[in-house]
Amino acid sequence: MDTKASEKGGRGREPETANAEASGRSRQTVYTCFSCGAQNYVDPDWTWFTCWKCNLQKPLPLPGR
Ligand SMILES: [Zn+2]
Repeated sequence: MDTKASEKGGRGREPETANAEASGRSRQTVYTCFSCGAQNYVDPDWTWFTCWKCNLQKPLPLPGR
């Protein structure tokens, strides 16, 4: 796998974890995994994420870029 520095991404956060962090950071986007239907909270500038439930890596659409 080649990783470009400009392509940011990471592991999606579970809703419970995201709610716990919500007090400090509100810039989150909810993306529903089409494989297992789990809700992943991701940063808006990520270009990919890994589902916390099924561990599949998925690309993220980037509106406005
Ligand atoms: Zn999933």
